[in-house]
Amino acid sequence: MQIVLIGPPGAGKGTQSVRLAEYLQVPHLSTGEMLRDACLRKTDVGLRANEAMQRGQLVPDELVEEILFERLEEKDCQGGSILDGFPRTVPQAVAFDAWLGKHQRPLSTVLELRVNKEELLERLSSRGREDDNREIVLARLDQYDELTHPLLDYYGKRSALHVIDGQGSAEEVFAQICSIVDARK
Ligand code: ADP
Repeated sequence: MQIVLIGPPGAGKGTQSVRLAEYLQVPHLSTGEMLRDACLRKTDVGLRANEAMQRGQLVPDELVEEILFERLEEKDCQGGSILDGFPRTVPQAVAFDAWLGKHQRPLSTVLELRVNKEELLERLSSRGREDDNREIVLARLDQYDELTHPLLDYYGKRSALHVIDGQGSAEEVFAQICSIVDARK
């Protein structure tokens, strides 16, 4: 199953994607993790992505697409995967649709994890990642509203979108996700 998780920073995408990947026995692909790893290893993509990431801004679409599409073509992703953090802009979603069409892979489900802003700020202030300081967090939340939020309309129009209430405990949120995913198996 090819599943996409969308949600603002701090919504719990990472936690839920890891659990869902385990449940469905498919790889979990986080573009944020892939990019952080590329930065650490100082690869060509990493060097080009680093500055935007430090500032809490999105990395240019073509860089993320390059790194993700290459990974999606590996053998372990043939049976699907859980995408955490991609697509994050409408152009990325358009490029992803083209990629899916070319590889004859259907998109099973898009899940939106919804959490209010006060709760997000509280969660992020206690997480302690390098890009989690307040100013950068606010920049990342703004980027979400401006660039990622329009994606919800894009997928909503095709009825592939399911809204999950991300405010509960990790267990409660995962139970909601499973009920949607199980119904589509
Ligand atoms: P969060 O969802 O908490 O912001 P991620 O690990 O998903 O954390 O992303 C961290 C950073 O990586 C983002 O702020 C952005 O700079 C970059 N990034 C991740 N995925 C994408 C993407 N699909 N497009 C552009 N930039 C991305």
